[in-house]
Amino acid sequence: MQFEHVTLGQRVLFGSGQSAAHLAAEVDRMEAARVMVIASEFERPMAEVATNRITPVLWWDEVVMHVPVEVAERARTAAAAHDVDLIVCVGGGSTTGLAKAIALTSRIPVIAVPTTYAGSEATNVWGLTEDRTKTTGVDDRVLPVTVIYDADFTRTLPVGLSVSSGLNALAHCVDSLWAPKADPINHALALEAARALATGLSGIVTDPEDMTPREQTLYGAYLAAVSFASAGSGLHHKICHILGGTFNLPHAQTHATVLPYVLAFNAPGVPELAARLAAALGRPGAEGEDPAQAAVVALNDLRERIDAPTALADHGLEAADIPEATRRVLAVFPPTNPAPATEEDITLLLTAALEGTTPTPRVPSRL
Ligand code: NAD
Repeated sequence: MQFEHVTLGQRVLFGSGQSAAHLAAEVDRMEAARVMVIASEFERPMAEVATNRITPVLWWDEVVMHVPVEVAERARTAAAAHDVDLIVCVGGGSTTGLAKAIALTSRIPVIAVPTTYAGSEATNVWGLTEDRTKTTGVDDRVLPVTVIYDADFTRTLPVGLSVSSGLNALAHCVDSLWAPKADPINHALALEAARALATGLSGIVTDPEDMTPREQTLYGAYLAAVSFASAGSGLHHKICHILGGTFNLPHAQTHATVLPYVLAFNAPGVPELAARLAAALGRPGAEGEDPAQAAVVALNDLRERIDAPTALADHGLEAADIPEATRRVLAVFPPTNPAPATEEDITLLLTAALEGTTPTPRVPSRL
């Protein structure tokens, strides 16, 4: 075994119903006096609960998915005008993304209180969108110093959004299996994340009131994001960033829909990991079963059980978009992907995701 692994430094405080106590203790510990709270209008009630033991100097509610640069600029200006020394973001990945955009240029520390399973809080990846193009980068300045997980905030996530957001988390760990800096440590994190997410999401769908599966899903989402932050962005994320940034598709639903097609494309190239993924998703390989087939079937079964979104056509992609999307994907295709792809491969993958046809693994002869 030979690898180089980087672990990001971050405090994680996990506990349902404890966000206000955890946040107040963190603000004290960091000796912050001028706190900016970022939360969209919808997220504000959750932010009020989390911040009820501190006194912020600035509330900011202009939050837009994929962080348009002009929105980031306005928030940066406000943070500077109020001499902010700590940002607290309470919300989904879009809210965390705005906090990161401010931290990127100001170095103001961030405490994240996530309310979805997007996982941005555990990565040092930032994203900004300009002229229909989403640019992402890696910078330790944007990594939240502390993450406060309170599963109570996920109670309001409707089951459908829980499923999409949880599959977005699953995409982080599945893509980690073949991402550019994949190694045995992020594989271990990714596979435990996959197990926790599969169990948690199945439980949420069975009983949306039960907090245990919501906690499991939040825990899995964190591990998935840690594995993604360490392994880097694989083919799945390259595709979804283009679909989100260029065609303005909704983030979680897009990841949830595209994942099985990328798995079907890549699993034949990583049979040992495919077998471990299948087991993590609850389908230990049967004697003689092709591991890629086992992984794809395991994911298909999970998606069916939890009623996952199936077609990008339902989320705004059109057949006429496929040639541009294919061109853009090929331009950023990861050289470390288990198998290379032709224009036809990506066209077929995107068309299948557009239409929602059942994902099946590529025949290994095409590897
Ligand atoms: P989001 O933050 O846009 O939230 C989606 C919707 O859910 C919003 O309307 C929001 O108000 C609502 N919402 C949030 N919490 C809720 C709750 N508890 N109950 C009910 N509704 C709630 O979407 P997202 O999927 O969380 O995040 C997507 C964004 O995060 C994208 O821009 C994506 O690129 C980014 N992201 C970045 C990273 C990274 O590492 N940088 C990782 C994952 C996602």
